[in-house]
Amino acid sequence: MIKAPVSNDLFLRAQNSIPGGVNSPVRAFRAVGGNPRFIVSAKGPYMYDEDDNRYTDFINSWGPMILGHAAEVVQEAVQQAIPNSLSFGAPTRKEIEIAELIVSMVPSIEKVRMVNSGTEATMSAIRVARGFTGRDKIIKFEGCYHGHGDSFLISAGSGAITLGVPDSPGVTKGTANDTLTAPYNNLDAVKTLVDAKKGQIAAIILEPVAGNMGLVTPAEGFLQNLRALCDKEGIVLIFDEVMTGFRLAPGGAQELYGVTPDMSTLGKIIGGGMPVGAYGGKREIMEYVAPAGPVYQAGTLSGNPIAMSAGMAMLTYLKEHPEVYTQLRNTTDKLVSGMEQNMQQLGLNFTVNQIGSMFSIFFTQQAVTDFDSAKTSNTAFFGRYFNAMLDRGIYLAPSQYEALFVSTAIGEEQVSQYIQANLESLKEAQQ
Ligand code: PLP
Repeated sequence: MIKAPVSNDLFLRAQNSIPGGVNSPVRAFRAVGGNPRFIVSAKGPYMYDEDDNRYTDFINSWGPMILGHAAEVVQEAVQQAIPNSLSFGAPTRKEIEIAELIVSMVPSIEKVRMVNSGTEATMSAIRVARGFTGRDKIIKFEGCYHGHGDSFLISAGSGAITLGVPDSPGVTKGTANDTLTAPYNNLDAVKTLVDAKKGQIAAIILEPVAGNMGLVTPAEGFLQNLRALCDKEGIVLIFDEVMTGFRLAPGGAQELYGVTPDMSTLGKIIGGGMPVGAYGGKREIMEYVAPAGPVYQAGTLSGNPIAMSAGMAMLTYLKEHPEVYTQLRNTTDKLVSGMEQNMQQLGLNFTVNQIGSMFSIFFTQQAVTDFDSAKTSNTAFFGRYFNAMLDRGIYLAPSQYEALFVSTAIGEEQVSQYIQANLESLKEAQQ
């Protein structure tokens, strides 16, 4: 069993000066119990904490480190850029190059604006969609996460047409009223909302593959039907590909499913580990963005030269090495089939959802297709399982409602270690 006294002390100390001791809530391990590990360094498949413990990482900074930690191609690009100064706040050639690269990779994007996080990308995208359509309301899906912008911190009310209810204190009723929610994979619910608010919906935003209620894939035809509905009603369809962009395919979920939205939001992998986001889409929509158009959006550090260098190196590598995606899928297939065998052997109720290099285990016998079915998973069991895995040096996302991400640094050795740890941890969680 792994001991972490230094991390435990640091966590106590952190709570004096940082809310909850962390700079992003899930890191505090509240959903699974126990204390977070304070990380010092990471290389390839491994992260090392303050107590010199080693963990095989299946979060990879919540997605960005698709090539594993400290990938040479990205590290070198950053090192080369550093001597030229860390920020200019003025245009650079790199920004054109990365924009051209993104346009060449992501089907929906004809023009793109770089920002500093996925949250900024989604907040900006809906502002532009509102400016473009002259409409106020948006539709999002229960269990989809689009960052912490006020408009997105909304869960469903009791009926399909019920107005949004703030999920977080501090989100005004006015903002909540403009966000309507529907269950994921439920086209009829979306149609009901659109009919009830005819001509008022600016955008429908969704994760084309949802990763923030655990992994949930779109039902057959769901994305296509949303596309058709948006075309009919003049609604801007936004795919939030902060998680899935460059992960499921070089062009993201939209390439994989062959459905092209009007706008896309990107983050995570796009910065190779640096804080980067982006939003883009059809030329006529993006022409609304200042200074080309009237919708204001700006950023002191947007297009930062170090971040652009990291992103450029990462995206170039992925574009030039499409075999990465086959490798990632094969590795993840092995992990999933090993886990499935373990769970069958132990007679557990489970559902594993997987697509490419993303997967989630739900401890339920139901198929998980939306947030309600995701919530049938036994989260107490998940918490015990998570901590048992951590004790065996496997670092998972500390919440049931997250997807896991596999990197190319995960090889045969780590797969065997994972499957063995999975078996032992499931047994321990059963006790
Ligand atoms: N959109 C999706 C789909 C995400 O998964 C996330 C973060 O996990 C965000 C937006 C927000 O991105 P960020 O945390 O970079 O603000």
